[in-house]
Amino acid sequence: MLKELIDQFYLDQQTSRKQNHFYVSDAGKCPRAIFFKFKNAPRKKMEPRMLRIFERGEHFHRNIFDVLYRLRIGVVTEVPMPSDGLVSGRADAILSIESKNYVVDIKSMNSMIFRKLVQPKEENIYQLQVYLHYFQIQNGILLYINKDDQNIREFHMKYNQGLAESLLEDFRRLKKKLDEHVVPKRFAGWPKNWQCRYCQFKEVCRLAGEEEIAWEDFKKKMKDQEGSNQG
Ligand code: SF4
Repeated sequence: MLKELIDQFYLDQQTSRKQNHFYVSDAGKCPRAIFFKFKNAPRKKMEPRMLRIFERGEHFHRNIFDVLYRLRIGVVTEVPMPSDGLVSGRADAILSIESKNYVVDIKSMNSMIFRKLVQPKEENIYQLQVYLHYFQIQNGILLYINKDDQNIREFHMKYNQGLAESLLEDFRRLKKKLDEHVVPKRFAGWPKNWQCRYCQFKEVCRLAGEEEIAWEDFKKKMKDQEGSNQG
């Protein structure tokens, strides 16, 4: 009884809001899934359990912020990124150690993933590179926390201009698709890529097929499908 009430609470928190600008966390992600978020395509609700996991992750972030402030290393947290109107985001922290500035991005994960972490995750590298680009800072740190035993691992990274520019170019390409109302092709890794496995748009993506499709035509296709499911 109580479990159902708590789960329902989390389900009710999820409003299917239309995304209207790119976030740094979209860097390197499936363009089609981002397109669907902008167009508010029908999506599967996230499991309440997953939302509780995210909430717990935020708690770990706050703990680390607190420690960073107490270390007195010239830290600012949750820093809004200077934006050119294309991408927006907030870096977890910017700090200074031995006169060197760093952008810090904090990620929390369970033991199983943490144990296998011999190098930073690709999507985290992309995110950090976009931060480094906009903040014009040369050094970044990805700080991983094991939620189960509180172990910490850090990876240092230098700004890679080529990589950052290519990620921004991907955003510009997707913006063009959004302006032209064209659903991008399926992501190359479909359907085995982790992004597809956790994608809330799995169903609509399947219906859209592999190639690009005009958004208006696809909306009609979704409507027809809905009609045939009811009929
Ligand atoms: S299922 Fe995969 S290819 Fe389709 S929208 Fe989601 S992430 Fe992209």
